[in-house]
Amino acid sequence: MSLWVTKFGGTSVGSLEKIRSVAHRIAAVKDQGHSLVVVVSAMGDTTDDLLEMAWNIGNELPERELDMLLATGEQQSAALLAMTLANINCPAVSLTGWQAGIESDSQYGKARIMNLDTSRIKKELAQGEVVIIAGFQGISPDADITTLGRGGSDTTAVALAASLAADHCIIFSDVDGVYTADPRIVENARQISLLSYEEMLELASLGALVLQPRAVEFAMLYHVDVEVRNSFNNNPGTLITEVAEMEEHRVVSGIAHDTNVARIALFDVPDQPGVASIIFKILADHRINVDMVIQSAMRDDRNDIAFTIERSEFNKARQVVNEIVIKIGASGMSYSTEVAKVSIVGAGMQSNRGVAAAMFDALARQDINIHMISTSEIKISCIIDEDRIEDAVRALHVAFHLDQGE
Ligand code: ADP
Ligand code: ASP
Ligand code: MG
Repeated sequence: MSLWVTKFGGTSVGSLEKIRSVAHRIAAVKDQGHSLVVVVSAMGDTTDDLLEMAWNIGNELPERELDMLLATGEQQSAALLAMTLANINCPAVSLTGWQAGIESDSQYGKARIMNLDTSRIKKELAQGEVVIIAGFQGISPDADITTLGRGGSDTTAVALAASLAADHCIIFSDVDGVYTADPRIVENARQISLLSYEEMLELASLGALVLQPRAVEFAMLYHVDVEVRNSFNNNPGTLITEVAEMEEHRVVSGIAHDTNVARIALFDVPDQPGVASIIFKILADHRINVDMVIQSAMRDDRNDIAFTIERSEFNKARQVVNEIVIKIGASGMSYSTEVAKVSIVGAGMQSNRGVAAAMFDALARQDINIHMISTSEIKISCIIDEDRIEDAVRALHVAFHLDQGE
């Protein structure tokens, strides 16, 4: 008998009919004598719908109340799945994040799991129950409900798999696994059968929605093998694990893109020690995550500094940046919320020269202008205009021969 931690995403539990089919899948595993912890996301677009409803109230919403609201989505699907299982004589109990002992910090909207007290889960498992857990939520040190950032149910599942030393951790979604690019954009994207934690972490951090980056961090830290599979079929999925020998022939493993990006530029920033530190400390104090940063060449003792942030934080950042401009004596700022990031990821990149040139060439041939570039050992990212993002993803997929087999 083994312990399975599974997670079903929003589409997989998008209707009562789909919940029924998930319930049958769970009952089949249970009938084979295995124990199951099942993490669920909110049904379909529930989280987006709740957010939209709240934004109708006003622009500045108390973050605590927003989390209180968003957490209800996962509570619905957890209870509905438990009831559906009971209906087919499979004993199940649903738990909220706090009942499941998911202790987080108090950063509403992007809380981090700090500790897991799995005693209640273990007690329910010992009684033969399938334990259904509302994903994406935790409880802060002040006993307030928090949410773990978009896609956070993935992290709930992987963190639980680590803590419970589960034999299997399976993330069920609406795709067969991880692909060489978003299959919604690239028709002939290929499924990848095996991925290293490092590559998956880059792909996820750079926008491949299929796993939340923090879930991959947990998997890497605690050596959890994570399988991504399709909840609507039995096709083999993608295994994300420790890959000792990177496949050298695979220079680029995948293309990721992210449209949750905004770019801000500060003009005529005084060229003095400590100025960058002031700018980015103020942003950090307001919990605004900065991604790429570039500083232009100095002229007349002044530089321009441009950086990107998450577009969802833009309204907050704009006010903060206006204050920064005054504080450091810059001449002004400009911004764009119509940019996006396209990235190539691959472990083989570090030993192959000319990859960056090939990327820029592929974009140039499509007449796509590059606004910013950033590189690491296993990825290269470019900021481009949002309306060209799909063309860019498709062009890079062809340029790196990703449709042509592993
Ligand atoms: P869930 O609700 O199951 O968590 P998500 O919508 O969060 O599902 O993630 C699955 C989606 O991720 C897919 O439908 C797909 O469009 C998108 N996606 C983006 N990049 C990739 C990729 N490289 N491989 C697979 N799916 C991807
Ligand atoms: N329901 C949440 C979201 O839409 C969490 C998740 O799906 O993992 O982001
Ligand atoms: Mg998701």
